[in-house]
Amino acid sequence: MVAVSLVSLDSMDSTESTERTANAVLEPPAASAATQARSLYVETYGCQMNKADSELIVGLLAREGYRVTDRVDRADVILVNTCAIRENAEQRVLGRMSELNRFKTANPDLILGLCGCMSQHLGDRIIERAPYIDLVAGPDSYRRLPDMLRALDAGSEPALSLTWDRAEHYLDIDPVREAGVNGWVTIMRGCDKMCSFCIVPFVRGRERSTPHGEVVRQVERLAAEGYREVTLLGQTVNKYRDGEVDFADLLSRTAEVDGIERIRFTSPHPAHFPDRLIEAMAASPKICPHTHLPLQSGAPETLSRMRRDYTPEVFLDVVRRLRERIPGIALTTDIIVGFCGETEEEFEATREMMRTVRFDSAFMFKYSPRPGTASHKRLADDVPEEVKGRRLTDVIEMQKSISETRNRAYRGKTVNVLVEGRSRRDADKLFGKTDAFKTVVFPEREGIETNMIVPVRVSGSTPFTLFGDVVATA
Ligand code: SF4
Repeated sequence: MVAVSLVSLDSMDSTESTERTANAVLEPPAASAATQARSLYVETYGCQMNKADSELIVGLLAREGYRVTDRVDRADVILVNTCAIRENAEQRVLGRMSELNRFKTANPDLILGLCGCMSQHLGDRIIERAPYIDLVAGPDSYRRLPDMLRALDAGSEPALSLTWDRAEHYLDIDPVREAGVNGWVTIMRGCDKMCSFCIVPFVRGRERSTPHGEVVRQVERLAAEGYREVTLLGQTVNKYRDGEVDFADLLSRTAEVDGIERIRFTSPHPAHFPDRLIEAMAASPKICPHTHLPLQSGAPETLSRMRRDYTPEVFLDVVRRLRERIPGIALTTDIIVGFCGETEEEFEATREMMRTVRFDSAFMFKYSPRPGTASHKRLADDVPEEVKGRRLTDVIEMQKSISETRNRAYRGKTVNVLVEGRSRRDADKLFGKTDAFKTVVFPEREGIETNMIVPVRVSGSTPFTLFGDVVATA
C-alpha cells in the first residue's frame, strides 16, 4: 500500500475527511529508461472520489515507472488533484500551486500539474492565472497523463487535456491504495442529477456505471491485499446500474467476497431507495448499518429550487423504511443553509426535519454560489451573509446536541471497532470506527494492531467520539 497525501476540503452529497497523510515510498516496477529516475508526488484535495482518483493516477504512473515520493522537494513531477465544489477550495489550491512553484527554483525541470475537478472547471484559464502550471488534466483524461508528461519532458508547451469520455471507467488500471484500513472502489463516475447548486455534473460529466465484474474484481483484489473494509463510491451511488446488475444486486455480490467484512457506500441519493435495496442492506451483516443521506433542506420549496428530486415526505419515508428494516442504523447527512430565497419558515422546516430525524452527525454549510451552476445563473443569492452565518451556527448547535444524546446512548454497550491506528490526540491510545461509522478511542493493549476488529466497551462519549476499553481481542 502507498499513501497519497490527502487534504480534504468539502464536497456535495458526500462525507468528508479532514485527514492529511504523508506519502510513503512506492518501490517502482521495472522502469523504462525514459522514466527511470522520475519521482512523483501527488497531493489530493476534496472528497473520497478525488482520493480514489489519486490512487488511480498513482497506479497508472507507477506502471509507467514513476516512483512515488513523500518528499515534495525531491519530486520531478508534482500533481495536485483538486476539488471545485467551493470557491474557497479553488482559492486554496491556487495558493498551494504558487507555493509549490518555488520548487522550480531548485529543479527547473520540475513538472507541476493540476488534475481533477478544478482543472475541468477552470480549463485553460488556469494557465492564464498561474502560467507556471505545466499540465492540466480533467477527471476523464488521466489515461493521457503518461503521454503528456513525456511531451513535457521533450520540451513541449503546457499540456491540457479536458475532454469528457463517457466510456472511460479506467478498467485496466489497478489503483495503488493509500495506506489505511478502508479500500475505496469507484463504481460510478459523473452525475446526471443537475442539482441547481452543484458544479459536479459540469466537471465530472455524465453518469456511468463500472461493469459489475470489474467492481467485484477490485473488491477481491482489496481482500487479497488484506483489506477488511471497502467503500463503494459514486456521486449517486445507489443509482448504479450497468445494464445487468443494479445497486442492490451489486451490494449482494460484493458481500460474497471472502475476506471483506465491512461494506460501506457513499453517497446515495434519497430519491433512489427502493425496498429491494433496503432488503439487500438488511440481508447481509457485512453491509454496514450506516447511511449518509444528504438532506440539504427540510423545506419543499427550497428542495424544489435546489432541484433535489424529492420532497421532505419522500425523505422521511426512506428514513422510516431504513430504520424499520435495519434497527440501530446510523444516519448522517449534509445540510445547506441560506440557499437562494430561503425564508425563515423554510429554514425552520430544516430545523424541524433535523429534530424529527435526529441524524447521528451532519456536514453543514452556508450556501455559496458556484459560477456555471443553475442557481448561480437563475437565482438570486439573496440571503444576507449574517443571516447565513446565524442559521449555520443554529444548525451546528442543534446537531451537536442531538449527536451528544445519540452518542451518550452507546455508553455501557460493546461495539466492534476496526482499528485504524494511533489516536492523533493521545499517542497512548488507538482509534477506529464501528460499523455504524462512530469513531472510538481506546487505550492501546498488547496484541492489538491496525486492521483488527476488536470489541470495545464504551464508557464515555462526546458529540463526535466514543471512548472505552477493549474487552477481549477478536
Ligand atoms: S448534482 Fe446533486 S446528486 Fe449530483 S453530485 Fe451534485 S449534489 Fe450530488
